Amino acid sequence: MKCVLSARQTKHYPASFLVNGERQPNPESPDRVDRLLEGALAAGLERTEPKDYGLAVIARVHTPEYLAFLRNAYKRWSRIAGAASEVTPNIHPTNRDCVYPASVVAQAGYHMADASAPIGADTWDSSVASAWTAIHASEIVMAGDPMAYALTRPPGHHAGADIAGGFCYLNNTAIAAEHLLQKCRSVAILDIDLHHGNGTQSIFYHRADVLTVSLHADPVRFYPFFWGHAAERGTAAGLGYNLNLPLPRGTGDQLFLKTLEEAFARIESFAPDALVLALGLDTYEGDPIAGLNISSAGYGTIGHTIASRLRLPTVIIQEGGYPCEELAGNLTRFLAGMQGRVA
Ligand SMILES: [Zn+2]
Repeated sequence: MKCVLSARQTKHYPASFLVNGERQPNPESPDRVDRLLEGALAAGLERTEPKDYGLAVIARVHTPEYLAFLRNAYKRWSRIAGAASEVTPNIHPTNRDCVYPASVVAQAGYHMADASAPIGADTWDSSVASAWTAIHASEIVMAGDPMAYALTRPPGHHAGADIAGGFCYLNNTAIAAEHLLQKCRSVAILDIDLHHGNGTQSIFYHRADVLTVSLHADPVRFYPFFWGHAAERGTAAGLGYNLNLPLPRGTGDQLFLKTLEEAFARIESFAPDALVLALGLDTYEGDPIAGLNISSAGYGTIGHTIASRLRLPTVIIQEGGYPCEELAGNLTRFLAGMQGRVA
């Protein structure tokens, strides 16, 4: 299996985010790339660089206004006397049907859902490279490989069509799905990150050609709070094409695997041509974010179960999973499991 990664993806270096009102070091750090690459190589993957795909595919998912903001915000922000070293919002519209603001401070509030996705000097460049990594992995699968792993960092599943949040700027999972639709009639997205993929859900919420299924910690008392509930099923033509499977905090391997069966049943009845697997390793029992309790051995079983049950051409997109001793090892076990091996 190929592992797609660009060196440009490590340049983005968010300094902080707010936790209960306190500034804390941002765990979505560049060293995640080193750890995840180590894990992918240990599973026998072969590293490859993405090509330059321009902005065409990215612009099928994100609005022109948002892309212009993301590209230029840091430069505009830096011209403000005394501004901090990262673009972070301090005011949000209560209603997003408002007049589109001209000021970069107001645009930050409009385009940023929370304070965990600050924009620095290299955020645009790294985010675009991460999206190209997702596109390139989709190309590999469209060319006939049964699966490919996109080491997409920064991650993407909390980013909506015109909004950043939760360490995410461009929605790599949605971009991969859109790209696959050039050759596929329909695509299923299975999101197994600790957090609900609210950005991905919102992008496809009204559509029937992309089925979105997410297993995640119950948002009733967990980020992203406002989305990810079981009652959210899609709208208009997309009604019934979104399935949320919230899990109690502390869920371990057994209940996770049992709930995966519900995801498989829905995906099998949808009968897609391809799968985008949004892989979060922050479900690990030792992850610093601490929400679910998946064991290291569990990742091998989960990877093997997904690949052997669904048997679909699969683009694996990296979402969360934060620095801890077992991050690399958990990825190795998962990818080995996907390939029918035990690591
Ligand atoms: Zn997550």
